[in-house]
Amino acid sequence: MVRFDKVTKRYGDLTVLDSLELDVRANEMVTIVGPSGSGKTTVLRMLMTLEHINEGVIYVDGRPLTHMEKDGQLVRANKSYTREVRKDIGMVFQQFNLFPHMTALENCTEAPIQVLGLSKKDAEERAVELLEMVGLDDKIDQYPARLSGGQQQRVAIARALAMRPKVMLFDEVTSALDPEVIGEVTQVIRKLRVKHDLTMLMVTHQMGFAREISDRVCFFYNGSIVEQGAPEEIFSNPKEERTAEFLSAVL
Ligand code: ATP
Repeated sequence: MVRFDKVTKRYGDLTVLDSLELDVRANEMVTIVGPSGSGKTTVLRMLMTLEHINEGVIYVDGRPLTHMEKDGQLVRANKSYTREVRKDIGMVFQQFNLFPHMTALENCTEAPIQVLGLSKKDAEERAVELLEMVGLDDKIDQYPARLSGGQQQRVAIARALAMRPKVMLFDEVTSALDPEVIGEVTQVIRKLRVKHDLTMLMVTHQMGFAREISDRVCFFYNGSIVEQGAPEEIFSNPKEERTAEFLSAVL
């Protein structure tokens, strides 16, 4: 569903992703863990086309994200093509990024109306259903400032799902939360594993959650995947010294 084909990302002299190969199958939940600065968030930002790609191609559901085929060759795609492919991807950020002047409901209906062309009625029906799913049926008309961090993050998840993406990206979605509300957000992600046909790629520092929920864990180091496998293998029996060192420092 998502494939990084030898993707390189540089900022000046700094190579942040080094010819990265990453393949995420449909409906798979892959978690990226690793030290600070290893390039984890950059992977997600590249998928959202928030960063320019230096080399390589990213494919989403078989379509190149920033390139298109012309005369048998891949050339840089124009913005409208990329925007179309990117509709398949939803992202939830560490800092919620809700529209502060809109209610929970309006946050969830804005893009479906503006981008997908849904009627207000259809967008609201979809949004209410999703806000119920994340347990916020009583907060539909509240503005973000009146919601707790955990509630805001659940609105952000509902907002991303309202676009009916095939792929959901979670970037350290519990890092900005108080410990007592982390559970309400992880519970929603657990629910998504069962309820929706979604491919998920998550960056997290919460090793317990990564171990419990992932099909596969990728350990990042200096812009490359050093080791990947089933959570049990990575957490109980890491083969690479750098993985073992990292885990012993954080667990
Ligand atoms: P953390 O766990 O701390 O969030 P990370 O593994 O997600 O780290 P990234 O945010 O992907 O790391 O950053 C990878 C590297 O790229 C870091 O060294 C960072 O300083 C650098 N970097 C990120 N964004 C930029 C930018 N806009 N300009 C220059 N360097 C950047």
